Amino acid sequence: MMPNLRLTIELRELSMENVVIERVDAVTLEGKRPRAAGSNARLGHHGDVVRLPLVRLTTTDGVIGWGRTSVDPSVAASLAGQSLGNFINGSTVHPDWTAIELPLLDLASRIAGQPVHRFVSGSDPLPVRSYDTSLYFDDLHLDSDDEAAALIAAEARQGWDRGHRAFKIKVGRGAMHMPLKEGTARDIAIIHAVRDAIGPDATVMIDANNGWNLNLTKQVLTETADANLYWIEEVFHEDNVLYQHLKEWQAAEGLNVLIADGEGVPDPRVGDWAREGIIDVVQTNIYQRGFGNWHTLGEELDALGVQSSPHTYGSGIGNYITSQLAATLQGLNYVEWDEAHFDAIDASAFTITEGVVTIPEAPGFGLELDHDAFNAAVAASGVSFVHS
Ligand SMILES: [Mg+2]
Repeated sequence: MMPNLRLTIELRELSMENVVIERVDAVTLEGKRPRAAGSNARLGHHGDVVRLPLVRLTTTDGVIGWGRTSVDPSVAASLAGQSLGNFINGSTVHPDWTAIELPLLDLASRIAGQPVHRFVSGSDPLPVRSYDTSLYFDDLHLDSDDEAAALIAAEARQGWDRGHRAFKIKVGRGAMHMPLKEGTARDIAIIHAVRDAIGPDATVMIDANNGWNLNLTKQVLTETADANLYWIEEVFHEDNVLYQHLKEWQAAEGLNVLIADGEGVPDPRVGDWAREGIIDVVQTNIYQRGFGNWHTLGEELDALGVQSSPHTYGSGIGNYITSQLAATLQGLNYVEWDEAHFDAIDASAFTITEGVVTIPEAPGFGLELDHDAFNAAVAASGVSFVHS
């Protein structure tokens, strides 16, 4: 085994140095969710359109790597004419180039002939599960809590039919969009209806987008104790004192709902609070932190027994990127799944069956670009840089 392994690594390092990026194309594509997403506790209608900024790299040998990045075109242009070895060392993209990490990682993995998860971890993929993140406030036009609960439960059944067995419900209707008491009552009715619709064995999480306080959280957890919630996400802005209190209260009440937080612009102490056992699931954004940095953090969290679940909503292909990461980490138990279709992207190598995500063994991230469609989009509204 060892001589072969060493040979593979030497070949990989050799090839990265010899590879020169000749051409860089950038364009933003538009995709569509299967169903428009409504409001959450702090924002209005999210809609069904997802915008996806992409960069495609082509080497002098004609190898192509691509990925999501909203990098400035002048930065993208600076890649043209450079050796891939200037950006990547082993399987790690240099920190100066984190903003364009995903296209570089896709390209390097394809040259290495490996899926990203294996390129980064050197190991077989770990099991990956999805959660349906699409259950927004789609009911605000309804007067009746029963009708609202039936609507969101029907949406959960749609997710079930797409293969999901874990579901996250947006809550906090009383934070802004409804009066506090009525909104909270509706949240509770919806949690019960979704649980009834998907049965006792599926996983249910809730996400309040910081729309609650400690007392509201306790009220909802008390009134939904029979719904067996798996995690509460952003019930209020992360606060170690309040979370410690909530943990002690839960223990006294016989509850054990995990505390998930760290999305958005998190408190810089979130990592410390996870290490101290105050936060159970860390959710910093996969693009803000970066894939390689998340892998490093996730390995540390694995060693501590803390779960990982990067925020990825609204990013178009974040499901697949995060699935590749999840295949490298023990504690990334659920990948946030915000389904969207792009005419130029073939994601069919990823499938979800009974909540389990199939991770492709194809080189790179496992997504294929329709280059004719991509070229047409670049010609219409993108930019290209060619080193001559
Ligand atoms: Mg969230």
